[in-house]
Amino acid sequence: MSPQGFESLLVDPDTTLLQALSRLDATAQGVLLVTDASRQLLRTITDGDLRRATLAGLPPQAALASLPGGPAQTVGLGASMHDVLQLMDARRIDHVPVLDEQGRVVDLVTRRELSRRTYLSSPHLGDDEAALVREAFESNWIAPLGPHVDAFERELAAYVGVGHAAATSSGTAALHLGLRLLGVGPGDHVLCSSLTFVASANPIRQLGATPVFVDSEPEGWSMSPAALRATLAQLGREGLRPKAAVVVNLYGQSARMHELQPLLDEAGVPMLEDAAESLGATLDGRPSGSFGRLALFSFNGNKIITTSGGGMLVGDDAELIAHARKLSTQAREPARHYEHVEDGYNYRLSNVLAGIGRGQLRVLDQRVRRRREIYAHYARELAGVQGLRWMGEPAGHMGTRWLSAFTLELPEASRRRDALLDFLERHNVEARPVWKPMHLQPLYAGSRYFPHAPGEDVSRALFEGGVCLPSGSNMDEAQLAHVCELLLRGLRLLGTVR
Ligand SMILES: *Cc1c(COP(=O)(O)O)cnc(C)c1O
Repeated sequence: MSPQGFESLLVDPDTTLLQALSRLDATAQGVLLVTDASRQLLRTITDGDLRRATLAGLPPQAALASLPGGPAQTVGLGASMHDVLQLMDARRIDHVPVLDEQGRVVDLVTRRELSRRTYLSSPHLGDDEAALVREAFESNWIAPLGPHVDAFERELAAYVGVGHAAATSSGTAALHLGLRLLGVGPGDHVLCSSLTFVASANPIRQLGATPVFVDSEPEGWSMSPAALRATLAQLGREGLRPKAAVVVNLYGQSARMHELQPLLDEAGVPMLEDAAESLGATLDGRPSGSFGRLALFSFNGNKIITTSGGGMLVGDDAELIAHARKLSTQAREPARHYEHVEDGYNYRLSNVLAGIGRGQLRVLDQRVRRRREIYAHYARELAGVQGLRWMGEPAGHMGTRWLSAFTLELPEASRRRDALLDFLERHNVEARPVWKPMHLQPLYAGSRYFPHAPGEDVSRALFEGGVCLPSGSNMDEAQLAHVCELLLRGLRLLGTVR
């Protein structure tokens, strides 16, 4: 049903039974909404109503107004999907019209929609994972270490074009190890992108260091070179040299490494590249995750490929990565007995999960293509919408569109964003706000923050108006078309579509 399709469900009370029948047939939603001239809902008409009217002997030319039956069950714009479902079950109905504050009918929720959820980004297995896991079972390599772990490390390192990789139990674990290996400890300052998932920042604090947050740039949304320059200059004046910088590649796209790297090099600050969201992306043909002194990936369930949970720390420095492996297995010294000098962790990826990862790596390029296709579809369908700006793909960048994301550039952006998310949720579609920046998190209250330009807080604006859309590579065409149609309907309600 197109947005015009929703409008085509509205009929006036003079409509005849015969006309209604043909409209029901054409719109194929099983329901029509009978409204007066001011869009007040008089009743709904279903196939069943028409059948009963015919059996009761009403002529095909009778008007809908003459049919028996009471007013429709409706909900307001504040209703949740749960409210709608309860009403459907209690009243044994399959359609619930939604009324705005003035009582005008503005939306319709169908049971068909509620029977199948559209996720933001859900796991998408390929053909080989089950066989690779079975191999682990059959060879009894259920123990944490094993041949799949070694092979997964080699294969991922080759894909990213780095020398070495250490597989970990999560991306967060890899980040924690990476910071430790760069020497971060109590009293240190560590730069970090503000617009990110909290896992990018937490290990900084957990190591006793102080995060200093850096704003985004407005086009590609990752770390702003201008803000980084200002940060380094100010800290330099205070005689502070950050121990490391966590640069996050947001939503499947590399940060502007060509501008960030020279600034960090000049200041002597090593980069830990948080590539958890950007596996498969390139910048001038160079794979994301190959820029930092160390970089990390995540294979959490919502990422572009998944091992259900897992991560990888990569880099060209063989010693650093070997040290990461040691720290991730309780930092045991090479001795027959259990000898420990350093503080270690239990952070290694299991052999079973590495088997899944190997299978997933084989379909990564397909997953990238599909996510980019999904983005292109959204961008095309929503091209006419005013006040909506997509995350950009700056020159030289090839992102994966891990999540298709836009921001509403309108007054009261966060209220509109929430209304749109509520609207989608009522239709069983999972969409999310853009990450809430770290400098706005209660957890990091009082932390230092450097904006893109004086008085221009880009990450805050992206958060306030930002929406991440369902982007999973396993969405089918019908789901994608449905989400587009809902977006147009929802955005029209918010007054952003002509
Ligand atoms: C997912 C994610 C992480 C953490 O990865 P996990 O595997 O979930 O621990 C870190 N940074 C960013 C930017 C992420 O999106």
